[in-house]
Amino acid sequence: MSKTDWITQEIEALQSAGLYNRIRTIGSPQGAWLSVDGKRVLNFCSNNYLGLANHPALVASAKKAVDELGVGPGAVRSIAGTMTLHVELEKRLASFKGVEAAITFQSGFTANLATIPALVGKEDVIFSDRLNHASIIDGCRLSGAKIIAYEHNDVKSLEEQIQANLKDFRRALIVTDGVFSMDGDIAPLPDIYEVAKKYDILLMVDDAHGEGVLGKGGRGIVDHFGLHGKVDVEVGTMSKAFGVMGGIVAGKSVIVEWLRQRGRPFLFSSAMTVPDAAACLTAVDLLEDSTQLVDKLWDNAKYFKAEMKTLGFNTGVTETPITPVMLGEAPLAQQFSRELYEAGVFAMAIGFPTVPQGRARIRVMISAAHSQDDLDKGLEAFKSVGTKLGVI
Ligand SMILES: *Cc1c(COP(=O)(O)O)cnc(C)c1O
Repeated sequence: MSKTDWITQEIEALQSAGLYNRIRTIGSPQGAWLSVDGKRVLNFCSNNYLGLANHPALVASAKKAVDELGVGPGAVRSIAGTMTLHVELEKRLASFKGVEAAITFQSGFTANLATIPALVGKEDVIFSDRLNHASIIDGCRLSGAKIIAYEHNDVKSLEEQIQANLKDFRRALIVTDGVFSMDGDIAPLPDIYEVAKKYDILLMVDDAHGEGVLGKGGRGIVDHFGLHGKVDVEVGTMSKAFGVMGGIVAGKSVIVEWLRQRGRPFLFSSAMTVPDAAACLTAVDLLEDSTQLVDKLWDNAKYFKAEMKTLGFNTGVTETPITPVMLGEAPLAQQFSRELYEAGVFAMAIGFPTVPQGRARIRVMISAAHSQDDLDKGLEAFKSVGTKLGVI
């Protein structure tokens, strides 16, 4: 017996349960079509909602910035100083989102790890939606606060938990995903805000899948619901619709100022790289100039979801361009994904623990980069594989 045998056994168990993650290798830029393991396939996988990951304007500004400023930030901002580029990006993001201030992080994941432990600690309580993203859950755990999960998108359950528990703690935080990435449903933020207001609790939303997707011209979930100034903290990412990499925290300036003092991934990890920050600035330019890409994304999503329903697929409760195709057991979802790949469509199966047991699915990510013809080719492949496997 070697001391790593248990890992080999765990991996074999994952493989026989159809839950082993096989990671494909991409040999082309992100876009509607990809070269995956050497085969040209239609891309239904990425979070590149607006097609910005390989947009000529973003590529050009990243190159220009590298020529002028080099590639890296050198060290953490609190020690080596902060580049004008990052300051400029934060100003532009705050103005784009209509908030007092914004701060950037290396990723959406680290933005959550920075924010939650800065706001609550051991004497405090967090009310967290049961289906919140892993990075929220990890941020909650890191904070040391008591974590109380309320039922998914259920404001009544949230209020019951508050009434039963609030008095036992010093401070409280309500945290929810904006768009839930596996089902594509949207948090009932106006109702959650009313509860937060009634009990005077800090409210935080992680809008990773809403940034660049929801609201006017992609300004996010707070704009979508007209809740400007009411949500204390809005976390976002620039790795999805913005097509680059980087996390955002937007909201009240006092909170942003506090994160510069107490956000550990800000204090102990270097900033976004130069080309990332420059490309993100150009993404803001594009979104401020025109709503065309966001409109195209929603037109594509509406068309695809309606056609999938007509074909007889169950697309769950989605309200966004995220389109889950519910299949049930993980091995069926994996087989479906393999057959789609053979038919020239790249759409990954998602199973436990990312989604609950028995709720495995193919998740289709629609993008503004898809043409009508692309969507029709994808629908054709779903129709033939769905028929072959007896799903429709
Ligand atoms: C994707 C995602 C993140 C992580 O964002 P990265 O910038 O890729 O680290 C965080 N929260 C939610 C809800 C997400 O969907």
